[in-house]
Amino acid sequence: MSLSREQMLVEMGVAPIWLLRDKVAPASAAEAPAAHQAAVSVRPVPGEKPLPVPERQPVAGETLRPRQEASPAAMAAVAGLDWLELTAMVTGCRACVLCEQRRQAVFGVGDPNPDWLFIGEGPGADEDVQGEPFVGQAGKLLDNMLAALDIARGNKVYIANAVKCRPPGNRTPEAAEMAACRPYLERQIALLKPKIIVLLGKAALHAVLHEDKSLASMRGKRFEYAGIPVVVTYHPAYLLRNLPDKAKAWEDMLFARRLLAEQAVPELPF
Ligand code: URA
Ligand code: SF4
Repeated sequence: MSLSREQMLVEMGVAPIWLLRDKVAPASAAEAPAAHQAAVSVRPVPGEKPLPVPERQPVAGETLRPRQEASPAAMAAVAGLDWLELTAMVTGCRACVLCEQRRQAVFGVGDPNPDWLFIGEGPGADEDVQGEPFVGQAGKLLDNMLAALDIARGNKVYIANAVKCRPPGNRTPEAAEMAACRPYLERQIALLKPKIIVLLGKAALHAVLHEDKSLASMRGKRFEYAGIPVVVTYHPAYLLRNLPDKAKAWEDMLFARRLLAEQAVPELPF
């Protein structure tokens, strides 16, 4: 059964406020709140007002340890790998303790030439069994969010995680585990060359932007990774427990969509 756009927005808890006009038109003022429009640089402009969202309460299990660097040897090991070689390396990887209890490493899924790259935390129980990211409840919500944007996994969308193996009991990955896995994520980004990266939750924020600030304080701003615009939003599993924040996640998606549209090369008149 396929849902209409409106049904999907209702499902996300954001209808009827946030309606898309068309697929690629720049977001209108109604779609992008003023705070979002102001927040388009990595270093916020002096005097810029922070996004007026309440500080979110920390979620159990979301505390992150201090940053650890990926080892230079591990970075060098993946530097020249193509997609298949990288996949094979991840499949057989035993670089951190998460290899011990996984059924399989979950490399990622989607279009190898994507506009969008979504990055989550790590596989859960369903993903560990099926070998694909975001196939459980949180994945259904992510799919609904994509559908509301008129995109779908596999079609201009790639989905990956900060760590490729399931942390036992779905605990938050340790900093050392994220550091061990980071070379794979970085090589994935280098090979995928997405036009926009959306970080889903704090672990992804930590893995890509090396930030420990609250997610609420990082939303609505444009960051960059290797020249690619990066947007931060709530993890779908968090949204399932905090339904009112779905509307904020939708704002973040529209913000990302606007940044993507801004990159579109205008058609030449000749
Ligand atoms: N949560 C994640 O962060 N990633 C998944 O793949 C599934 C749930
Ligand atoms: Fe290797 Fe990453 Fe799995 Fe750790 S989580 S074993 S670094 S693939």
